[in-house]
Amino acid sequence: MILSASDCERIEKFWAYCQKHQYFNIGYPESADFDYSALYRFFNFSINNCGDWQEPSNYALNSFDFEKDVMRYFAEYFRIAFDDSWGYVTNGGTEGNMFACYLARELFAQGTLYYSKATHYSVIKIAKLLQMKSCVVDCLENGEIDVADLLRKIQNNHEKNPIIFANIGTTMSGAIDNITQIQTGIAQLGITRDQYYIHADAALSGMILPFVDQPQAFSFADGIDSICVSGHKMIGSPIPCGIVLAKRENVERISVNVDYISARDQTISGSRNGHTVLLMWAAIRSQTFLQKKQRVQHCLKMAQYAVERFQANGINAWRNPNSITVVFPCPSEAVWKKHYLATSENMAHLITTAHHKDTQKIDLLIDDVIEDLRGKTQRTA
Ligand SMILES: *Cc1c(COP(=O)(O)O)cnc(C)c1O
Repeated sequence: MILSASDCERIEKFWAYCQKHQYFNIGYPESADFDYSALYRFFNFSINNCGDWQEPSNYALNSFDFEKDVMRYFAEYFRIAFDDSWGYVTNGGTEGNMFACYLARELFAQGTLYYSKATHYSVIKIAKLLQMKSCVVDCLENGEIDVADLLRKIQNNHEKNPIIFANIGTTMSGAIDNITQIQTGIAQLGITRDQYYIHADAALSGMILPFVDQPQAFSFADGIDSICVSGHKMIGSPIPCGIVLAKRENVERISVNVDYISARDQTISGSRNGHTVLLMWAAIRSQTFLQKKQRVQHCLKMAQYAVERFQANGINAWRNPNSITVVFPCPSEAVWKKHYLATSENMAHLITTAHHKDTQKIDLLIDDVIEDLRGKTQRTA
């Protein structure tokens, strides 16, 4: 590749910028502790996983064999027999959510999509694109769906086929909707298991819960119909990606024949990224279960540390069980801008992702928040 001198300079500047900000991330869930350099040489190839990896393809440069391994791994972690599952590597959590809602709508054309106020904003786009009726449900204070409100709304709507969009870790507070309570409640309304659908949006926490001692209900064994996870969050990836996994029997109802690639294609996009499949495969294969567990446990410990440090300084910080998201009162704009924090209403959060090997960056942020909030209470006093 030949670039002009000024373009070279521009790229060099961007390189320096990226290096400087490599580990900037404390307000967002993207882990940056990865090293995929062994795979760089594959960027010489136009790999394309167009279509379903389970069908033969005439496009020779695909990484379907690796995608099979990746999906087998997630099926095991999310407790569904591999042969009973169907899924693929997506462009991220949103595509996984979209696929799941599409699947649910095909199964229940008249079904309403129920989701809590704390749900990721992608659900609104998805409901619009798929022209689904939707219904917003209240949350409890910790960000979990208010199951009583959900059941009330299902009943008031005379809903026959509710489609539940459950959060397995909300974006703002890492709250996990109570799948067991939801299922028991729906059964009590006289709606049988084959009349409703539950999707689990596990963008971040889907790769935390398999590694904790007491996970909340979240898997196929707990009764979900589909799940999605982002690859660039807990696992970490230089390119956004994710996985979606559903029940094979449901997916088989929505397949479409596409002649020119000689493949049956149930995926949302056409061409699909074959490189991120290799990244996910390498991430899975390069660490033992114990190493992955230690990494997750480290993040959880750091989150607990942050909560305790805030509280020791009189700041009302908290986190949900098994969550690496620490919620605290929103500081002044200068502080959240300086630390690139995501804020919502009067809340801010920090996320103790795996590239925080020690508490250095976390402490800098906490110091700033303590000073800022102390100033605020003095001003209002
Ligand atoms: C990040 C996130 C998403 C969207 O995932 P992308 O990979 O960014 O598309 C969906 N749901 C939740 C709860 C998230 O935190």
